[in-house]
Amino acid sequence: MLPLESRRDMKIYTFENRTIDIRAYSSAGGLFTALAEIVLNKGGVVYGASFDEDWSVVHRRIDNVADICHLRGSKYVFTDINGCFSQVCADLKDGRTVLFSGTPCQIAAVRKKFGYHENILLVEVVCHGAPKKEYWSLYLDELLKNQGKTQDEIASINFRDKTKGWKNYSVCVEFKGGSRFIQNHRDNLYIQAFVHDYTLREGCTKCPFKNPNSKADISMGDFWGIEALAPNIDNNLGTTIAIADTAKGESILDSIACRTYFSVEQVAQYNPAIVKSPSVPLDKPEFDTTVKAEGFHYAAAKFLKPVFDSRDRKMSFRNQLRSFIYRVYSFIKNR
Ligand SMILES: Cc1cc2nc3c(=O)[nH]c(=O)nc-3n(C[C@H](O)[C@H](O)[C@H](O)COP(=O)(O)OP(=O)(O)OC[C@H]3O[C@@H](n4cnc5c(N)ncnc54)[C@H](O)[C@@H]3O)c2cc1C
Ligand code: SF4
Repeated sequence: MLPLESRRDMKIYTFENRTIDIRAYSSAGGLFTALAEIVLNKGGVVYGASFDEDWSVVHRRIDNVADICHLRGSKYVFTDINGCFSQVCADLKDGRTVLFSGTPCQIAAVRKKFGYHENILLVEVVCHGAPKKEYWSLYLDELLKNQGKTQDEIASINFRDKTKGWKNYSVCVEFKGGSRFIQNHRDNLYIQAFVHDYTLREGCTKCPFKNPNSKADISMGDFWGIEALAPNIDNNLGTTIAIADTAKGESILDSIACRTYFSVEQVAQYNPAIVKSPSVPLDKPEFDTTVKAEGFHYAAAKFLKPVFDSRDRKMSFRNQLRSFIYRVYSFIKNR
């Protein structure tokens, strides 16, 4: 089915998986798992990003529900999808339904290759930009060295651990034997270098696939700004927002998600990646030189220092203000 004719009619859908564990282990509200279940339960196959044996991130194919856990959750590393094309081709020849998930540029490549084939469902993530794999492997090697661990000792990695809530997520590396490295995203150098655009691929700064130029059937992201736009459903467990980009995507979303009355523009105020590309920091060349010379942790700590300092100043001001308000309140109460 071809793209929806009038993009002015686009509506935002919201989705929260009813199974609490699925929601807890999904980056947002667990829409991806619900879509994958629909396709797999009808004998189809699903492609998406998964960790490999060496904890690099790769695209892989699954054909049963038990394996969805490997694709669940955002991994902030760009993957190469070229190896998947011949498998997708074979799946379509066998008459199987294929759900292919990935970044909007990957989805555009799949669409270019297979067109609006009736057995293909393309699902993209809203994409801030994706870090090059070299940064991830360097970061992980240094982290393991600092922790005195080896790759073989890793049991799991989660970029979006929700133990302290969806909005207050942490990066968590669990080791065999039960110990773990867990760090709030605001303090984590890998996440901060990613969100401040130091580690993205060059092409991300002029991404041609931002809304409304998506080639997917469904675009899905985090419902950032939920506390302002829909406080009644905000329980900090994670909510996915989705946009139907084709009639096929619309019919699936109509069957499982809630249609809401927000426009793309309203939601994009809090989630600019839906419509806007990131820009390269002016000191990115120096950042890269420092990474090569001194390593990832050193470079990220050095170049993100102004970000951390300004955040600490804001927090200290906020704490002082809170304490002042509390003192005034106590004074009035005790008069
Ligand atoms: C690099 C990247 C940047 C993102 N930036 C934003 C953003 O700025 N704003 C926003 O709202 N959402 C962003 N997201 C998407 C968001 O984090 C959630 O993945 C999305 O909301 C779906 O959540 P879910 O709970 O429904 O399903 P989840 O189970 O959390 O989603 C898993 C899906 O993400 C795909 N995926 C995971 N890692 C990758 C990867 N490395 N490459 C390609 N596909 C991958 C899987 O194949 C699967 O389809 C980004 C995701 C990635 C991977
Ligand atoms: S921002 Fe655009 S070019 Fe960069 S990874 Fe995302 S979809 Fe691809």
